[in-house]
Amino acid sequence: MTTRAVHEAPGLALTAALRSVVDGSYAGVRDRVRRTLSGPDFAYPEPGISLADHRESTMAKTKLLAAAGVGDRQHEDVGERIAAFKTVGLGDLSVMVKVGVQFGLFGGAIDRLGTEYHHERYLADVASVALPGCFAMSELGHGSDVKSLRTTATYDADTHEFVVDTPDENARKDWIGNAAAHGRAAVVFAQLETAGEGRGVHAFVVPIRDEAGTPMPGVTITDCGPKMGLNGVDNGRLVFDHVRVPREALLDRYGQVAADGSYSSQIESPGRRFFTTIGALVEGRVAVAAQAISVTEVGLTIATRYALRRRQFPTADGSEQLLLDYTTHQRRLLPAIATTYGLEAAHAELVRRFAANLADPSESGQRTVESLAAGIKAYATWRNTETLDACRQCCGGKGYLWENRLPALLADSEIFQTFEGDNTVLAQLVVKGLLSGVAADFEDLDLVGLVKLVAGRAFNRMDPRTGHDALDSDTGRLAAFQWREEHLVETLGARMKKLVVDDHVDPAEALNRCMDHGLAAFTAHLERVILEAYQSLEGPAVLGTLRELFALSAIERDRAYFLEHGYLSGAQSRSVPGRVDALCRELRPYAASLVDGFGVPDELVAAPIATR
Ligand SMILES: Cc1cc2nc3c(=O)[nH]c(=O)nc-3n(C[C@H](O)[C@H](O)[C@H](O)COP(=O)(O)OP(=O)(O)OC[C@H]3O[C@@H](n4cnc5c(N)ncnc54)[C@H](O)[C@@H]3O)c2cc1C
Repeated sequence: MTTRAVHEAPGLALTAALRSVVDGSYAGVRDRVRRTLSGPDFAYPEPGISLADHRESTMAKTKLLAAAGVGDRQHEDVGERIAAFKTVGLGDLSVMVKVGVQFGLFGGAIDRLGTEYHHERYLADVASVALPGCFAMSELGHGSDVKSLRTTATYDADTHEFVVDTPDENARKDWIGNAAAHGRAAVVFAQLETAGEGRGVHAFVVPIRDEAGTPMPGVTITDCGPKMGLNGVDNGRLVFDHVRVPREALLDRYGQVAADGSYSSQIESPGRRFFTTIGALVEGRVAVAAQAISVTEVGLTIATRYALRRRQFPTADGSEQLLLDYTTHQRRLLPAIATTYGLEAAHAELVRRFAANLADPSESGQRTVESLAAGIKAYATWRNTETLDACRQCCGGKGYLWENRLPALLADSEIFQTFEGDNTVLAQLVVKGLLSGVAADFEDLDLVGLVKLVAGRAFNRMDPRTGHDALDSDTGRLAAFQWREEHLVETLGARMKKLVVDDHVDPAEALNRCMDHGLAAFTAHLERVILEAYQSLEGPAVLGTLRELFALSAIERDRAYFLEHGYLSGAQSRSVPGRVDALCRELRPYAASLVDGFGVPDELVAAPIATR
């Protein structure tokens, strides 16, 4: 067995080197936001704070962050904005979500779907929070299936207005952040009807409250009430009763309505127009993925620091054993730390591609970014919940105390798995892209096009082959990950093709029947993407050991698959747990530096069990 030598000594120099890997080229922005969040104005809310007070303090903090320049779309580039949002994720997550709604979703929709008129009219007030706003997409009846939204916006050519209406209970806008207390306007997603024709989902800026905070005529606002977490965010419901807004309310970058009601768009196909509209909002997913990584880093910092001071049970020499010297503890924390550094690498690559595609847009670049954003968002948020739960358990009863932050972190971030796209639905979209081999019409859950592609494609049965050095080198491990992904996608395609072509099963039902297989392909794909990004990450040599631990832990979880298909021999497979144990032991002396490298300020760690 070979393991990499770790050259650096643990300590401040290593921490600084790791932190510059994590911050990348955005160290300036991240430090500025870290300093702001570390001030007394950002103290965490006391447990038992009333809903109303929590919401007001969250709004006050959002305004302070706005004053510090966070979320100013007119003066920040996209990489800086995401770095700022990511850093806000190190603190109170209600503030993070409120910031995300105001600047990312509300501001982002106006920015990306609107034109110069909307930018000039709204963006400065969005940035200063003079105009608190909402992103009103989800409805009671349709959350994941945005194409089927039922709110209508019908153009009245006589008055040059759109009439926004909620036709029934299922069309009620639900869960809308900023709606219950603070929002004065909302970007409302609705089915556009003009000149008697439906034109699909479009977005409109609709005032929902006047300056005194009274709901506008025809707008009914109700409160979603207390939630499992994120109670500083005022989620509400919106119902529109024939609310009239001027023609300019349409965010008309991708579809325009002339005064006489005639419709035009530079994108002819309605399906493509819909995906372009939704795809323009991808920044929200890029941001939530980053924030999930930040939250995981806070949890790992708390649990690892506690594990380095808490002792339990006597050892042979009469002293008591540190928790982190238990193999089980090492296995719960160190592979998660290794995965988190890998996610940092993959996310940095996503931001690079996203920024590059904004600077020089292409359809294939956009599809790649959408697929990567959906995949990293789902993988990172799933791992976040799993890791925070492990961190809580690692801290025993102390981890259950509010003051030690893990309960709030868990309760507030668990929903990341659902909003900005439900993870299972996102995984399906990624799998469709993998199956078709091209990520065209990425968000389309109508499977006809996909099935045509699948039916016309020969799937390689992929003879079993052995990965001789699958465990021993970076190239061997990457080859193993590539083989697993390719094998899962090919066999999934073959299954789908048989069901649809030979057995005449409806395409949606065929994918439905194969989706366990699809989720395995999703995980294999993401882990390959992460490992590739990890391998191109430059930094201290300890990253090599972390990378190896990430890879071997993933192989360990899936070694039945490698073994079943003859990729690993029985002896190779049996050696994996021992290799993971050895890597954990090797990294154990570096644990403090590894979590310090995440750069969570002490004021934000805040948990008494993790103070230095
Ligand atoms: C705290 C919070 C804040 C929010 N903020 C906003 C906001 O500001 N603006 C806004 O517009 N929305 C917001 N949302 C709504 C959020 O985006 C939706 O909850 C999300 O899109 C999921 O929709 P849903 O709740 O209707 O779940 P559903 O789509 O009904 O999903 C329920 C379950 O069914 C599964 N499922 C659904 N479809 C499929 C499928 N095709 N195949 C397999 N499984 C499937 C999902 O995996 C999930 O487990 C918020 C939600 C919450 C909880």
